[in-house]
Amino acid sequence: MNPSPAIRLLPVLLLVAALAACGGKPVAGGSRGETAKAGGEHGHEAGEDEHGDGHDEGAAATTIPDDVATASGIRIAAVGAGTIADEHEVQGLLTPAEGRIAQVTARFPGPIRALRANIGDQVRAGQALATIESNLSLTTYPVASPISGVVLQRSAVVGAVAGEGTPLFEVADLSTLWVDLHIFGNDAGHITAGIPVTITRISDGVVAETTLERILPGTATASQSTIARASIANGDGLWRPGAAVRARIVVDQADVALAVPVSALQLDEGGRDVVYVREGDRYRERAVTLGRRDGRRVEVTAGLEAGENVVIAQSFLVKADIGKSAAAHEH
Ligand SMILES: [Zn+2]
Repeated sequence: MNPSPAIRLLPVLLLVAALAACGGKPVAGGSRGETAKAGGEHGHEAGEDEHGDGHDEGAAATTIPDDVATASGIRIAAVGAGTIADEHEVQGLLTPAEGRIAQVTARFPGPIRALRANIGDQVRAGQALATIESNLSLTTYPVASPISGVVLQRSAVVGAVAGEGTPLFEVADLSTLWVDLHIFGNDAGHITAGIPVTITRISDGVVAETTLERILPGTATASQSTIARASIANGDGLWRPGAAVRARIVVDQADVALAVPVSALQLDEGGRDVVYVREGDRYRERAVTLGRRDGRRVEVTAGLEAGENVVIAQSFLVKADIGKSAAAHEH
C-alpha cells in the first residue's frame, strides 16, 4: 500500500529543497568539497547556472520533478480566456406557495366524531379528513380536503364542537415551494426577475437551479432586506417550508481574455499576488495584476500570457518549496 501523497510529500519537499540549495554558491556551514560532492551526486544540468538567479528579486523558482509534482497533487493548466461572474451569495427561507394552502373547515357546526388524518399525512383532493355530526340534521357528514397535499396543521379534537368555518386542518401542496431570498442595500438595484439562481439545501447540500420570478415591492421590516422570490420543484419532498437555504444569484457573466482559478493565487512575502509558472520541471514565481474576480476565478490583467502553464492545484506547496529554497540560499 502506498502512503498518501501528503505523507510522502514532506521528505520529498525537503529533498527538493536540498537539491535547490546545492547550486552554484556554497551552502552555509558546508565546505566547498561537500557542495561539489552533492552537486555531483544529484547530477546538475546545464540549466543550473540560471539557478543563481534565485537570489534576484522576482525570479524565485524551484525544481520539482514530474513524478513528485503528480504525487503531491500539483496540477497545471494553460492560461486562457474565461468568464467572471457577478454573483451574490444570499440567505433565504422556504415557504409554501400562496394559493397552494387550504384551510379545511366544517360546513355545519357540530361535534367532531372522528379524525382520519394526522400532521404530515399526504392526502388527496376529496379525501375525508374528519367526520362531524351536524347539529342541524343530527347525521354525520365527512369533511374533505379541497386539495392534494400534506397536512401541516390539525386543530381538531375528537368530541370538540366544530363551529361553522372553524379551521380543522391546514393542507399544503408542497410539490412547489417559494424561496424568499434576502437582498440587502444597493444589491436590490441590479438583481431583477429572470436572473438565474442556484439554491442549496443546508441540511445535505442538495442543489436546485431556478430563476428569480419577482422582486417583492417594499422591504421586509425586521431585516431591512428586499425579498427576491423564486420557485423550486420539491421533487424529493425534502425541501421543507420554514427551512433556511443558501442561494447564489448569478447576475452577469463577463468574458475576460485571461483568467486563472483562485486556487492558483498565492501572496509572496511582500504581499503581492503571484502565480507559479511551470517550464519543464522548473516552477517560477510570477507577480500578476488582478482584475475582476468571483468565487472561482480571477481575471489577470498583467503578468501572464495566454498559453503559459500555471499551477492551479496545491500552489501553496510550490510556494513552500520556493520558500525553503530561498531560506537555504540566505547567507
Ligand atoms: Zn452584483
